[in-house]
Amino acid sequence: MKAHGYATHSPTGELEPFQFERREPRPEDVEIDILYCGICHSDIHTARNEWGWTHYPFVPGHEIVGRVSAVGDKVSKYKVGDLVGVGCMVDSCRHCQSCDDGLEQYCDNGWTGTYDGEDKIGGTPHKTTFGGYSDRITVDERFVLRIPDNLDPAAAAPLLCAGITTYSPLKNWKVGVGQKVGVIGLGGLGHMGVKFAHAMGAHVVMITTSPEKGEDAKKLGADEVLLSKDAEAMEAAQNSFDFLLNTIPVGHDVDPYMGLLKRDGTMVIVGSVEPLTRVNGIPFIFRRRSMAGSLIGGLPETQEMLDFCGEHDITCDIEMVNMKDVNTAYDRTVKGDVKYRFVIDMATLKDN
Ligand SMILES: [Zn+2]
Ligand SMILES: [Zn+2]
Repeated sequence: MKAHGYATHSPTGELEPFQFERREPRPEDVEIDILYCGICHSDIHTARNEWGWTHYPFVPGHEIVGRVSAVGDKVSKYKVGDLVGVGCMVDSCRHCQSCDDGLEQYCDNGWTGTYDGEDKIGGTPHKTTFGGYSDRITVDERFVLRIPDNLDPAAAAPLLCAGITTYSPLKNWKVGVGQKVGVIGLGGLGHMGVKFAHAMGAHVVMITTSPEKGEDAKKLGADEVLLSKDAEAMEAAQNSFDFLLNTIPVGHDVDPYMGLLKRDGTMVIVGSVEPLTRVNGIPFIFRRRSMAGSLIGGLPETQEMLDFCGEHDITCDIEMVNMKDVNTAYDRTVKGDVKYRFVIDMATLKDN
């Protein structure tokens, strides 16, 4: 089955039109006409081989929203016309403890990424999976999610990665009413962290270097702003937070933040896959504080997050782009020049 999309062919190449094959639907597969796809920072890192594992040609995109165009005989959850989403995973081993627990993102045998993953199902000439910057995709129904009808489908697309990445740790560490929660960094992840923590009833503090971003965060639901470059304010905020969601996308010193936590408080890293520096033992030992990490979310929790968004009317703040402008959107994303996520209007793919 022919598919059209955009691919890059080398770390320095631009994304350009590309034709490839998708597998014909198996009995358990859902075929989706893609309407929108978000641009995640991971797309850019992978397109430019910044993590060193990219296979080319590479079709990015793991924040996919579309309509079901066909279903296999054994598909029970979806029918033609349903509004659905696909996030970062399209397969996993399905028999390890993590898969049994619905935590496929921690699969012991390695899950299959929606893009640049080793395609273990096959049915095409390609060895790796191709992502959502394309007109269609075929996915096992277990890895397909339902998008609530009341949500704007374009603004819902980034929920599939940026949304679940921030929702999952807030739920796992039981953030809620009566707690003071800090969200560190205001980008694609941080803006969702603020919205979720606010909707869960916490007192939300935006922790940022930029006063302008602080003002923006208040419009998204933050109750307060803490400027991390203001030494006096940082000192006054010591030992006051129950939980910190750290969305900084690069390696950084964690010491200045650990002291903000109360006894038994936890800071969760969701943004940086680079080495973290200055991890001093003292803040951990003296108040039994913890630092942890969290990766996206499993299928059941991702559906729970989407339903939560439906109930609370939460979507991402987006800027829509045409497919042909994706390279410019990449450059602007790297500069942090987007509030807060680009989403590609896939109807513009045919203009090329
Ligand atoms: Zn992502
Ligand atoms: Zn598994």
